Amino acid sequence: MVTAKKIPERVIFPKGEKIAGEKIANGHFTGSVWLHVLVPDDSTFHCPAFNVTFEPCARNNWHKHPGGQILLVTGGKGYYQEAGRNAQVIREGDVVMIHPCVKHWHGAAPDHWLSHIAISTNVQRGEAAWLEPVPDEEYRAIRSGE
Ligand code: MN
Repeated sequence: MVTAKKIPERVIFPKGEKIAGEKIANGHFTGSVWLHVLVPDDSTFHCPAFNVTFEPCARNNWHKHPGGQILLVTGGKGYYQEAGRNAQVIREGDVVMIHPCVKHWHGAAPDHWLSHIAISTNVQRGEAAWLEPVPDEEYRAIRSGE
């Protein structure tokens, strides 16, 4: 049974390996996050793809992708926010196209896990630039309009 709090082992693709959370130091995330490589980075496609799953409240830091990124939401509920804009709720079936160098973050909602496929486009333009975490007080203050 899929519930809001219990993170499924698989949403279409496997949850993969835990890359952030208790006892796993990862300066790019808040909370527990799992990652499964779907398409490795290579010099032919320049377009790696990952299945990423966030526990409730987990999210990544503010960051930028020099070549852009596409998110395909496969399950759960979360947020996507660009700098200077309100956070938007994202859910299964949503597609988010993030233009190169736009400062943003993405992650789960407070009351639900989130799974998305993250496709990094044009990665030959360089690696993601990781910035500051989203503070708890700002995250908790998000009014999604729902
Ligand atoms: Mn991103």
